[in-house]
Amino acid sequence: MAKRNATDHVGQDLKDAILLHLRTQHPDVCRHWFDEINPISIESGVLRFLVTQPVRLRYLQRSCAQAFTEAVQSATGRLLAVRFVESETPGANSEQTCTDGLDVEEQGLLVPDYSFDSFVVGPSNRLAHAAAQAITENLGRSYNPFFIHGGVGLGKTHLVQAICQEVLRRSPSTLIVYLSCNSFIDLFHECVRAGKMRDFRHRFRNAEMLVIDDVHFLSKRDQSQEEFFHTFNSLYQAGHQIVLSSDASPSDIPALEERLVSRFNCGLVVRMDRPCFETKVSILKSKAKLLGLFVPDDVPAYLAARFDSNIRELEGALAKVRLYSLANNQPISLELARAAMSDEGASVARASGQPSIQSILEAVTKYYDLKMVDLLSKKRHKSVTLPRQVCMWLARRHTRYSLEEIGGYIGGRDHTTVLHAVKSVTNKIELDTRVLDAVTRIQELIGARV
Ligand code: ADP
Ligand code: MG
Repeated sequence: MAKRNATDHVGQDLKDAILLHLRTQHPDVCRHWFDEINPISIESGVLRFLVTQPVRLRYLQRSCAQAFTEAVQSATGRLLAVRFVESETPGANSEQTCTDGLDVEEQGLLVPDYSFDSFVVGPSNRLAHAAAQAITENLGRSYNPFFIHGGVGLGKTHLVQAICQEVLRRSPSTLIVYLSCNSFIDLFHECVRAGKMRDFRHRFRNAEMLVIDDVHFLSKRDQSQEEFFHTFNSLYQAGHQIVLSSDASPSDIPALEERLVSRFNCGLVVRMDRPCFETKVSILKSKAKLLGLFVPDDVPAYLAARFDSNIRELEGALAKVRLYSLANNQPISLELARAAMSDEGASVARASGQPSIQSILEAVTKYYDLKMVDLLSKKRHKSVTLPRQVCMWLARRHTRYSLEEIGGYIGGRDHTTVLHAVKSVTNKIELDTRVLDAVTRIQELIGARV
């Protein structure tokens, strides 16, 4: 065999083959902008892809490394590794170059899909969207705090992430601390235990923008609410932007102390409503475009008419249609969408060799002797939170669903909750043999390879 050059240049054919592999074998991670990332060279067994936008870079590094490695190996027939870089110059890609001002530990939570570009504006969210944009133009001075509330799956997380991305686009060094309320609470307790409250305060009170998703999880009995109150005051007095989301308005959050209710109310409080039919159709079209799917117009209309509650469910339906089309090797059409929505469609995941999320839920309820309604409920009792997290961990490991889809299925939770659950179960498996035994046994029940 001829000796290869130290650096091989990568042609369009190879790029096409890699993209084709990704689109057919890993549709869940594919995004329409994959066309814009270029393989630049093969050097020392590593194929490098140039990705100039930090948020895309993080998404690829976090969620796509394995899929790309597989695609590259299949397209080249060579045992290559994959690296995503943000500059062509070797060595200019140290970790710091892509961290921006975002709080480092949380940066993985920002997903490129949740940008203003992909946010569809309609009567249900027009005000929230306009306020969110105004904030990015004048941090701390337009509306502070900015509080959005609304039911599950109506776009709150999408909008607060769009704010973060836009602020970073305008001014990459802005120090943003973005996290879910549960992470705030966990971090607080970790720091108390480790005697690191100084670090905790330093980290939060220096933020130029603090974004906390799902503040309705603040609990009255917990010390973290007190700490949150002081964090809030200190940032507010310094004129730093605070952005909060919640499933209820400040006065309707049962566990929220009065002094926080009044503080939240002194900024702008905006409600997001359920989208109308036209907005749902546009959202589905935008999601299909994002996933690089060709979907004829009657399909979004059909799905939008069937689902009237939350958008995450709509997306779940689109995912099911996509899976059904892949499994049957047929293009997406109204007829196919109808079939996918029928019972026959429901078993397609099983037929394609992966356990369905439903079979995971059933096995977990059986193992822990729980009711399905409790598993899918909002209850936060220990007896259900661990089994629920185990479901998410198993779904992540054994199905091709995205974090959003898994969260949507398991009681309408968002992707940050799923990510948190996956990390937490991974840690517990190492530390607690009961958890290891549980996942081993449940994997046997669903017939999954361990
Ligand atoms: P919430 O945080 O309110 O529970 P999310 O922000 O997680 O809801 O939204 C659920 C899903 O619906 C996400 O995938 C999000 O991108 C999508 N979505 C919601 N509203 C819109 C919108 N207006 N345009 C585009 N996608 C949307
Ligand atoms: Mg959310």
